[in-house]
Amino acid sequence: MYASEFEYYAPGTVAEAVALLGKYGDDAKVVSGSQSLVPMMKLRLSSLKHLVDLRKVPGLTGITESGGFVVVGGMTTHHAVSVSELVKKKLPMMAEAAGNIGDAQVRNLGTIGGSLAHADPSADWPAVLTALDATLVIASAGGERSVKIGDFILGPLTTVLQPAEILTQVRVPLPQGRYGGAYQKLPHPASRFAVVGVAAEMFLDAGGAVQSSRIAITGLGPKVSRASSVEQALQGKKPDAAALKAAAAKAADGIEIRDDLIGSAAYKANLAAVIAERVLARAVARATNR
Ligand SMILES: Cc1cc2nc3c(=O)[nH]c(=O)nc-3n(C[C@H](O)[C@H](O)[C@H](O)COP(=O)(O)OP(=O)(O)OC[C@H]3O[C@@H](n4cnc5c(N)ncnc54)[C@H](O)[C@@H]3O)c2cc1C
Repeated sequence: MYASEFEYYAPGTVAEAVALLGKYGDDAKVVSGSQSLVPMMKLRLSSLKHLVDLRKVPGLTGITESGGFVVVGGMTTHHAVSVSELVKKKLPMMAEAAGNIGDAQVRNLGTIGGSLAHADPSADWPAVLTALDATLVIASAGGERSVKIGDFILGPLTTVLQPAEILTQVRVPLPQGRYGGAYQKLPHPASRFAVVGVAAEMFLDAGGAVQSSRIAITGLGPKVSRASSVEQALQGKKPDAAALKAAAAKAADGIEIRDDLIGSAAYKANLAAVIAERVLARAVARATNR
């Protein structure tokens, strides 16, 4: 099926792009990697009159370290994140996640900002960036605002982004101390989206006990969920195999899971516990070896 007819714009600056979005309101959208928007347009799930392409806007791609943050431009592709030496060294779970998104075409065209703005409940970035406590920078005609990842996604395909706003940067704080992070998913065999994916960032104290952790799960609920019960179960504990297993068993606590074509709620809850146990073990190993 073909998309309905639309006007195409290729602005040269963020200011021009947000001006176009402001002018056309709900009839306009930006396109970044086109990997989610164009399929929706072709299926006529989205019928836009004006498409604002961000690919000619300079300054929206790249990965740098600045002021204690790894700063990723909103238009940076999944592939670019997966091969970044900075990311691999400082935030390896981001590189792991990016390298396992979709297939080569999706990774070469799809962007981190597009994925977050699309807010698919099975996407990888929301879980990884929740575990890493990222902040998103959003530009509009009025200037910039920053939103914590935990406040950004409201539900399936819904975020706090307003029609005339563009996600320009993802800022990931560089963890301090003895930390380790890991991400793992069971990929859907066709799309590679997460059936369930778990991201964990663990901080150990000098004695090797868990000082704090941030654990996030994608694929289970209508949006990414923080696994608070797991975090609480780990707090202050020596992260041995028994403690990790007991904590991971709580992965699905408090998350509203539905039976669907992929599997029953019970299957997905069990899957979350199994993946969480493995992810916690990898995160602890990384923190211990740091
Ligand atoms: C076959 C296939 C497999 C996939 N597998 C996975 C997977 O395993 N894991 C996974 O997480 N994802 C997967 N995806 C989704 C992929 O990651 C997309 O790249 C992503 O969801 C959208 O990014 P995009 O840059 O292509 O955005 P687009 O498709 O261009 O845009 C998507 C939406 O975001 C908005 N938008 C885009 N950029 C911005 C911005 N900078 N600011 C504000 N709004 C913006 C658009 O207006 C649109 O509403 C898959 C997609 C396909 C087609």
